[in-house]
Amino acid sequence: MTFPSSPPPLDDVQRVLCVFAHPDDVDFGAAGTVARWVDDGLEVTYLLVTRGDAGGFDDTPRERMPMLREAEQRAAAAAVGVKVVEFLDGYADGTLTPSLGLRKDIAAAIRRYRPDRVLTSSPLRRWERLAGPSHPDHLAVGEAVTCAIYPDARNPFAFPDLLAEGLEPWVVREIWYNGGPSPDHAVDVTDTYPRKLAALDAHATQTSHVDVDGFLRERLAASAEAAGLPAGRLAEVFTIIRSG
Ligand SMILES: [Zn+2]
Repeated sequence: MTFPSSPPPLDDVQRVLCVFAHPDDVDFGAAGTVARWVDDGLEVTYLLVTRGDAGGFDDTPRERMPMLREAEQRAAAAAVGVKVVEFLDGYADGTLTPSLGLRKDIAAAIRRYRPDRVLTSSPLRRWERLAGPSHPDHLAVGEAVTCAIYPDARNPFAFPDLLAEGLEPWVVREIWYNGGPSPDHAVDVTDTYPRKLAALDAHATQTSHVDVDGFLRERLAASAEAAGLPAGRLAEVFTIIRSG
């Protein structure tokens, strides 16, 4: 199972909602692209399903981890110019499923922020690489977001209490998936790379022990080369689906 070919991105997008399982997911996968969207004048909002309470290393007291990682994600967002960061409550790192409750919470956020485009993690697994992008929380969020976009957010009869709260149905027109199999839409992030790196440095509990710069340069350069960009460029890669 894989994605169909990506269409060209919509050129009239005003608002983007990025929905990810853990603090740092959006930064590893897409912060260079997000920085470009911010520079282009798009209004970008982050919605995090968990505070990453199962991440980090042994020397950080576990009870401090959620607050630390929330602060890290807010600093990382600021590094790329994203001003609004929302965290859902009631979901524990490592336990996510595409449940009706999660779909409802995401559909509510979609109706509140009314994004033209949603960026999220791929609901499709990359079988060639079990670790990393295909973490079960990422797959679950990708699936829950997809269901929240269609049908939940646009159907007035889905979760009727949302409508009763004044949250009108909303049609998201485009989905960008990150971390899935065979991504075919590359974004040149060479110019915004320093901000992506700053965003990742903000996730000190996750990144302070590794050579993020070396690892990322190698990976993004390979993505750029595979996409046919000139030598020396860096790229983040996605699959785009039209949903409106
Ligand atoms: Zn993650």
